[in-house]
Amino acid sequence: MRIIDIREKTVSLSDPMSNAVISFLEMTASAVAIDIDAGEKGTVTGYGFSSVGRYGQSGLINERFAPRLKAVGDMTGADGGLDPVHGWAAMMANEKPGGDGDRAGAVGVLDMALWDAASKIEGIPLWQLLSERYNGDNAHERVPVYASGGHYYPDRDLTALVEEIRGILDQGFETVKIKCGQYGLEDDCARIEAILPLLGNDGSRLAVDVNCMCSTSGETQAMADAYAPYDLAWIEEPGHPHDFELLTALTGYYDGAIATGENLFSMSETYNLMRYGGLRADRDLIQIDPALSYGVVEYANIVRLAEAGDWPRSQMVPHAGHLLAFHTVAGLQLGAHEMAARPDFILSGLQGGVEISGGKATLPDVPGIGFETHGPLWAVLADL
Ligand code: MG
Repeated sequence: MRIIDIREKTVSLSDPMSNAVISFLEMTASAVAIDIDAGEKGTVTGYGFSSVGRYGQSGLINERFAPRLKAVGDMTGADGGLDPVHGWAAMMANEKPGGDGDRAGAVGVLDMALWDAASKIEGIPLWQLLSERYNGDNAHERVPVYASGGHYYPDRDLTALVEEIRGILDQGFETVKIKCGQYGLEDDCARIEAILPLLGNDGSRLAVDVNCMCSTSGETQAMADAYAPYDLAWIEEPGHPHDFELLTALTGYYDGAIATGENLFSMSETYNLMRYGGLRADRDLIQIDPALSYGVVEYANIVRLAEAGDWPRSQMVPHAGHLLAFHTVAGLQLGAHEMAARPDFILSGLQGGVEISGGKATLPDVPGIGFETHGPLWAVLADL
């Protein structure tokens, strides 16, 4: 098996939504296609699409990582199938350790396309291939999911927020996450109190994401004091992703769960978070996003690292709701899948045919990642 061709294009994700720190008006993503000569099975094309939040990586892909990948000769693994690990090792040749950043997303989207192709060649969905390779053939029978929404919009008030979350709950979710942190604690509490009645006033069904808004321990403690009466499912990204001192001070002060990690991009960064972040493996959540973190090869190692550090897989909850993340949650039996629930955003939803009820999703059965069954993503990927 060998690579015939790699194609890439940058796609606009422009959207009026924002969180506490960024607007999505100028957001972009990379879409890639990799053609594989699969011998008797002919040419198989694997697709990749960036996760949201870090911009497309056209330069890194076209100048560095795609040429290294194309130069790999035989990609056949020991089992006779396509082995993405060969490609991953070639892409990471001559890369110094550390400084992961945007490089991790460029490698991640190419790695994704290789895994899409590998599972298509096997004729099985990716979650099944991951289950076989990394999880002793075990997988979730139904995948725990929660819905992410409640962003800020220039023209929306609390009534619109309530309507959005009501619509999300009608889709079959039990737990939702909303954005907070942009306009101060009084506004945050108003947002939380507007949503709680939709959830039977059960705070354990509501998570709040403040997108790194706190800069000092005083700010995190004021936030914890304000949110504590609601008994929330978790508070997400209280401060800068690398500020472990701030995080440690908060977990020493606040008993509720903290979620973080979506802006860390490698096994070594995850190690530091687990070792020095003051997090508690019995409640806190690690949100490394496989698509932004060198892809499946690195993420499988991150899960091994977590287990070696006595972090149960239930505490691994990838960021952003990418179709790739859904397969990793299903095939590696992770804690839950975040799903962008607003129907008109390109990265919202799941594979065609997947059904959600009672906070759990059925498994997709099409070979590969299933981009072909996702209308908005396939509309972009098809012409690659
Ligand atoms: Mg977040």
